[in-house]
Formats: sequence, structure tokens, C-alpha cells
Amino acid sequence: MRKNGWQVRFHMIFDSRSRKDDRSARIGMALFRLSQAIKKMTQAESDAFGLSPVQIQTLLFAFHTRGDAATVGNLAHALGTTHVTAVKTANGLVRKGLIVKMQKAGDRRVTLLGLTAAGTQTASSIEQWGRTLEETLRPIADDTLAQFESGLGTVVAAMHRSGYLFAAEPCSGCVHFRPNAGDAAAPHYCELVRTYLTHEASLKECPEHTPSPKT
Ligand code: SF4
Repeated sequence: MRKNGWQVRFHMIFDSRSRKDDRSARIGMALFRLSQAIKKMTQAESDAFGLSPVQIQTLLFAFHTRGDAATVGNLAHALGTTHVTAVKTANGLVRKGLIVKMQKAGDRRVTLLGLTAAGTQTASSIEQWGRTLEETLRPIADDTLAQFESGLGTVVAAMHRSGYLFAAEPCSGCVHFRPNAGDAAAPHYCELVRTYLTHEASLKECPEHTPSPKT
């Protein structure tokens, strides 16, 4: 492959001899190993709750995502699965009495996911999910973590641009966010959806969050 007139050589990340001469291949392998380790950690934590990792992610998605953005389509993005798999996962939680499905007002083709009272209780109790990973990182020196965070942010942005990673965030720092532009009941404004938002809604995760260049 040629890039800017230069020949770009690809190394195979699973070949240790090849990795030796290529930083991208070495980091690719490290990230792959990390993903395997994180999978193992979250599986062990999920077993303790009697739920699968995707079921837990679905409950946390419904818990943290702004109500009108908690669609099955956005769940599929968040899980990194197909729409059909997201529907099956949601249906499994509907059968357990933890999730409710509703048609979106104004667009009956869109299905929104909400939590039942039991679902809210379960989601609150699994807020600690992912703690093993956090505890593993905690003893690492802060300046090392700061460097890692900065580099990792670049990797996340690259994966986001290539469509492999989906990251929902609250309104703060979004290019479309206009804080304190409304009244006391709905103090903030979103220029993308052209809607005034309550303060609580602005703190929920939004799949359309577009980082402001200033942040
Ligand atoms: S697009 Fe940005 S400002 Fe609008 S609701 Fe989403 S995060 Fe908030």
C-alpha cells in the first residue's frame, strides 16, 4: 500500500519477529491482549450478578443514556453488534422484567428502551461493574496514567473515525451544547436536535456527542 508517495509496510501483529520492528504492530498486539484480559475480568464480574456481560452493558446503556436516545439502534452501536443481536439481547431482558420497549413519540419505527423498577434497581447495583479493571490500574503512577490517557485518546479517536468504536458522552464539551440558554425548567439547548434540555438530561450519555475542538 502507498501513502503520501511512501510504501507502507504492514507487519503481522501475531508474528513476534515481525512485531519487533514495528511499533503499530506491537501496540496492536498489546491492545488485543488487553481486550482479551478485560473480557475475562468482566465475564467473572458478570457471573456474580447472574447476567451476561452484554446484558449488563444493555442495562447500563438504558440507565445512562438520555431517554430519547436509548434506541435499539444506538444499543447495537454501543455493544458493537448487529441490530438483530441487540433486539435479542433487549428481548431477553424484557422477559426477565428488567427492560421495557416503547415506540418513540413522533416516529413509531424507532424503539426506545427503558428500565422497569426492577431494572433500575439492578442497574444501580451493577454500577460497580468494571471495578476489577479500575483496581488494576489504580496502583500505576499518575504521570504514567496521564501519558497513557493521552495516547489512548488518540487511538480511541482513530477507531471512532474508522467506525469501529462508539462512545456516548454527556453534553458538556459537545460542539452542539449551549449551556444556560433556556429557562429554569430546561436551562440548556442542543443545536443538533434543536431542543431545550433539563440539566438532568444534559448529564446523560448521548450517542451524538461531538467533542468540541477546545476540549
Ligand atoms: S448532540 Fe451534544 S449537545 Fe446535543 S444532546 Fe447530544 S451531547 Fe448534548
